[in-house]
Parts: sequence; C-alpha cells; structure tokens
Amino acid sequence: MKGVNVVVVGAGVIGFSTAVCIAEALPSCSVTLLADKFSPDTTSDGAAGILFAAKFPDVPLERQRRWFKDSFDHLLAIAQSQHSPEAGVMLSSGWQIFREAPADIRPFWSEFVIGFRLMTDRELERFPDHAFGQAFTTIKCECSSYLPWLEKRFRKAGGQVQQMKVNNLQELSNSYDIIVNCSGLGSKALVGDAQVYPVRGQVLKVEAPWLQHFIRDGDGKTYIYPGVHSVTVGGTRQEGDGRLQVDAGDTRSILERCVRLEPSLGEAKVLSEWVGLRPSRRNPRVEREAVQLRGRRVPVVHNYGHGGWGVTLAWGTALDAVGLVRQCLHEKPPQAKL
Ligand SMILES: Cc1cc2nc3c(=O)[nH]c(=O)nc-3n(C[C@H](O)[C@H](O)[C@H](O)COP(=O)(O)OP(=O)(O)OC[C@H]3O[C@@H](n4cnc5c(N)ncnc54)[C@H](O)[C@@H]3O)c2cc1C
Repeated sequence: MKGVNVVVVGAGVIGFSTAVCIAEALPSCSVTLLADKFSPDTTSDGAAGILFAAKFPDVPLERQRRWFKDSFDHLLAIAQSQHSPEAGVMLSSGWQIFREAPADIRPFWSEFVIGFRLMTDRELERFPDHAFGQAFTTIKCECSSYLPWLEKRFRKAGGQVQQMKVNNLQELSNSYDIIVNCSGLGSKALVGDAQVYPVRGQVLKVEAPWLQHFIRDGDGKTYIYPGVHSVTVGGTRQEGDGRLQVDAGDTRSILERCVRLEPSLGEAKVLSEWVGLRPSRRNPRVEREAVQLRGRRVPVVHNYGHGGWGVTLAWGTALDAVGLVRQCLHEKPPQAKL
C-alpha cells in the first residue's frame, strides 16, 4: 500500500512529464493525474514542439539553463533510441534567421543544442531579406505521439488517470495529500492567477516531404518545421487573444510569409489548420505553497505558465516539481482521508 496520495492536474506536456517524474522518482507515492482534456485535445498536441527558448526576465539564468539542458538531454536519449518513432521525438536541423543581428548572437541554450554555429554569407544568400543567422541541430517533439507515450510510461510506473474537470482545489483536499497544479491556462480560474494569459497561435500542416530543414525567423512569427508526417508552418503570436477559431486572414498571411522564406511551399497542399492558446506568464510558476483548504493546510506545487516554450522546458521543470514534492513529503505527514 502506497502511503502518500499525490494528484497532478493537467494532461498536457507539463502535466504528463511531471506525473511521470513523480511516479518514477517517488515510489512511496500513489500518483493520480486528473484533467478535463487529454490528447489529442490539449494545447500541447498542436505545438510544433521544436526545442529552443527565449529568456524569462526574472528566473535566474542558471535555472533556465538547467531546465533547457535537462529537457534536451532527456529527449535526445529518446530520439537516439528505439522509442523515437512511437514517442514522436526526432532530431531536426535548420536555421534561425534575423533581419539584423540580435543583441545575443549566442543564446543561453546554444551550448546544449548540437553543432551551433553562425551561418556563413553563402548560406544567407538564399534568404535575401535576412542578414544574420544561426545553424544548429535541435529536437522536434510531436506531442500527439509523445503524450500517449508518456501516458503509457506513467501507467507502467503505477500511475492512475481520470478524466474530470476540477472546479476548485477544495474538491481535491479530502482525497489527496499533495496537489500538483499543471493546468496551464486553466490556472487563471483554478488558482485565481490573473498573471496567466493566452497568446494565440495559428499554424497549418502542409504536405511538403521534400523539405528536411527547419527555417525560423528570429521574430518568432514565421516558421517552417518539417515533422514526421507533415510540415508545420506558422504562425501568429496574438497576445491576450482567446479565439480558438481558425482565421482565414491569418492563414493567408502565414502562407505568404512562409512562401517568401521557402518558395517551394507555394506547391504544397494544406492538410489542416489549427489554433492553440499558449499559457503565457511573465515567468513560469514553478514553486510550492501551502493552501488552507477545508480547515487544513495542503501543500500545492505549481508548474504552469510556460508560454511558447512548454515542450522545450517540460522535463526540466518537471524535475524541479519533483524536488518540490519531495520537500513537501519531508515537511508534512500525509493527512488525506482516503
Ligand atoms: C501554435 C503553437 C506552437 C507552439 N510551438 C511550440 C514549440 O515549437 N516549442 C515549444 O516548446 N512550445 C511550443 N508551444 C507552446 C506549448 O504548446 C505550450 O507551452 C505547452 O503546450 C503548455 O503545456 P501545458 O501542459 O502547460 O498546457 P496544456 O497543453 O494546455 O494542458 C493543460 C491541461 O490542463 C487541463 N486543465 C486545465 N484546467 C483544468 C481544470 N480546471 N480541471 C481539470 N483539468 C484542467 C487541460 O484539460 C489540459 O489537460 C506552441 C504553442 C502554440 C499554440
């Protein structure tokens, strides 16, 4: 009989990564994952899943480097194993290009990806609107495969999964000793966090099997990411926009911008269109607190607000969340009734 009941709320890439890390690292815990939406209906499912990141303003850089490195190393091991096709994790090489050189020409993650270098003038000739570029090999993690793969791994570690909308944390306090909140944008309502907001992203999947290399404009708005079955082209970054409907104007603009970067895309067939809302916050919230619920103080570990970098940082922040759960276990004996 396992002693401590832990519940993880959220079945996106953050929830499943965190649930797997807890179930595997803390076998004395019984871990249940609850969510109202599962793959293929989460935001994570539609993410292009390319690993690189921007800096969060108030998180110590060392911590951000660790998040990136831990995630990269974890996914690299999968990409280089027999699990790669089932997990949807692959190496991906290409270019990030800029109209003018950015302030930070070697970003903090450049030492963790493979073969990072600045592009030569000759390589830049094919991008006449751009004067500077970085070439490197990173990872593409397709969550429509990766989430079901993580779910299997979670169940194998003894985890349980249940579909349920959680209206408030009180509902969980009788059954669980520790609550782990990975509800992404849902945290606005679930824990009343007014700092979390949507950044709308629209992407298309196109058939262009001749494309093998990613191209990303450094402004983050235009990108071409070849994947296992199709090429993801995007995108948009509309702050505070919660519309989930496909916008025909955005589709036109995405195609125009991507064809300008890669003219052969003019011949590609559009397979599907998708909109997702990035769960954005000035900084992701990876911390613990004790919340007064039905007359007792219940430890709550938060792990949400990863914005446009959730796939990139999922494993690294999940490892931090396990450390926080461990601290809760040391400080407080289990009290839940069930
Ligand atoms: C167009 C687009 C492209 C992207 N590309 C990339 C990329 O290339 N690389 C990258 O790293 N990131 C990318 N992202 C960002 C990435 O998708 C997110 O950071 C990531 O998916 C966030 O994961 P999450 O688990 O926090 O949220 P979600 O995937 O949204 O999961 C949240 C979960 O919480 C559950 N939930 C919420 N509230 C409740 C509740 N009250 N009760 C029960 N369950 C609840 C939901 O049902 C869901 O299961 C992209 C995003 C978009 C939109």
